Amino acid sequence: MLVSYEDFQANLARVNEQIAAACGRAGREVDSVRLLPVTKNHPADVARYAWQAGLRSVGENRVQEALGKMGEADAELAWELIGPLQSNKAKKVAEHFDRVQTVDRAKIAQALDRYAGEAGRSLAVLLQINAGRDPAKSGAELEQAPALLEAALACPNLRVEGLMTIAPLSDDPEVARRTFASLRECRDALSERFGVDLPELSMGMSGDMAEAIAEGSTMVRVGTALYGQRNYAG
Ligand SMILES: *Cc1c(COP(=O)(O)O)cnc(C)c1O
Repeated sequence: MLVSYEDFQANLARVNEQIAAACGRAGREVDSVRLLPVTKNHPADVARYAWQAGLRSVGENRVQEALGKMGEADAELAWELIGPLQSNKAKKVAEHFDRVQTVDRAKIAQALDRYAGEAGRSLAVLLQINAGRDPAKSGAELEQAPALLEAALACPNLRVEGLMTIAPLSDDPEVARRTFASLRECRDALSERFGVDLPELSMGMSGDMAEAIAEGSTMVRVGTALYGQRNYAG
């Protein structure tokens, strides 16, 4: 079922309040955290909702689904890939997405770099790190992060803007919080070691935004709290 625009606006207001409250508790400026609406499994209409409400980028986790919506949504949105990426999709991704948050191995960085170069583009990327050491989650292991960054920095057509993680599913909010703290510490160590700025920390979703903001998130990726449960989506 497609959420109405009015319901979406009400949900957006509530999410923005939660972000502001979490920023307040953490002593952070509200505009230091951006909201990425996650439109996966919903029709292209919900990407247009985001655009109408003044948001300028959306997150999708399946390449094929996103490519279809890019034309349909009829808006100047930036499209961010937040789902796993196989090499055989790298060309399409490098040509059509504005940023890829899920670069988790050197091989995929190199494939994106090659295709971005062929398309005459410079592609923004984040490195996905399995900061919660969760066997069910993708992302490079924390120990592999330096090698992955080194490989990505050697790609002339990629711009490495920061790190991304997904916390393990848990009833204990401390698990998410520790995961997000690990990602921040990983970022700080990489910045220092390689002498590069890695300003973006994409972490936090509908269920763990507050913990992520407390640990320094600069981008929360939110689907359910804006658009409702995906299994009812058309
Ligand atoms: C689906 C998804 C989200 C949004 O999750 P919600 O719990 O619906 O807010 C965020 N990040 C990634 C990587 C996702 O796949």
